[in-house]
Amino acid sequence: MNRGNTRCKKCGKEIRFIRTTAGKSMPCDSGFIYYKEELEGKDRIVLPNGQVVVGTIVNGPELADGFGFISHFATCEFSQAFRRKKKKCAN
Ligand SMILES: [Zn+2]
Repeated sequence: MNRGNTRCKKCGKEIRFIRTTAGKSMPCDSGFIYYKEELEGKDRIVLPNGQVVVGTIVNGPELADGFGFISHFATCEFSQAFRRKKKKCAN
């Protein structure tokens, strides 16, 4: 078994579990993202240390406050039923 190489049971994408400061294991996308901390941001970012912050994902480090991981539930294509978001082909 490959340690730290987990896949989403639904979409098969590679994910990682990060233990939050609340003690929960949160499934996150394996790639990290840059974020800007914003009280009214719509994204939740899990920091590598397990802290969860609210903010907005940004494209690059210039505008970012830091980096972290985003909950896989937010991006899993099988969760799209909950959120109506435009599908984008980012490859
Ligand atoms: Zn998935």
